[in-house]
Amino acid sequence: MEPLRCLGASVTLPRRSLLQGSSLVFGLLGGILGAARPAQAEARLDSPVQEPQLLERLQACTPQDPLRRLQEGNVRFAAAWRAAAAAPYEQRMEPLSTLWSHTCQIAPQALAQGQRPFAAVLSCADSRVDPGWLFDCASGEIYQVRSAGNTAFDQAIASLDYAVGVLGVSLVLVLGHSRCGAVQAAMSDAPLTPLLEDLVEPIRAQLRSGDDLTRAIERNARHVADQLTARSALLKDAVAAGRLTIRSAYCDIGSGVVTLL
Ligand SMILES: [Zn+2]
Repeated sequence: MEPLRCLGASVTLPRRSLLQGSSLVFGLLGGILGAARPAQAEARLDSPVQEPQLLERLQACTPQDPLRRLQEGNVRFAAAWRAAAAAPYEQRMEPLSTLWSHTCQIAPQALAQGQRPFAAVLSCADSRVDPGWLFDCASGEIYQVRSAGNTAFDQAIASLDYAVGVLGVSLVLVLGHSRCGAVQAAMSDAPLTPLLEDLVEPIRAQLRSGDDLTRAIERNARHVADQLTARSALLKDAVAAGRLTIRSAYCDIGSGVVTLL
């Protein structure tokens, strides 16, 4: 057992092999990029905290059930999205202006000191599927990793290692979406630049004959979710220990509805 100093107070946590030799790296990253959740993070964080009460406000914004929080936020978003679609042009923004009124309203001063996102979302870079938008979440609530096709590249997995190992995120959601251009490109024979070929290759490898675009997108999201624990010992151990849930989901842009796969 070794005391870990977080948020200006000493707490004693079992020093397990969660970070497997990477604790120093994560500790340094934590000091630079944010503060850890004391009950879950196992990296040493020695960055000075000037106003711990502000960080406590961040903690207070962590929902008991992160997946339910995302689902409830999406219900609010989808309702506003439908209302906006039905509204006259001049009034289209009114339903959407009701969003963010249900968020925890984390103070800018607290965010300036650190972050405690309650979920991580690995999503496509598509401009229409911003997780903060889709789940009615404000700054500091969702840790986002994004690239076209929501692929589990090494950098994406490493970013999620940080979210789980240092920030204590307990939910990772892999989010595919309707009419995904990256999956469409993977299904097409149209020539791509070399870098775009690299981008779509992991998606193309998962395609099955007979798949339509929607099925290919769903298959890709499920496969990426599986890849996270297959390629990251940290994420695999966190799932096995019950500290982490990984799910995949599909967003229908037209309705704004996100459906778990
Ligand atoms: Zn996409």
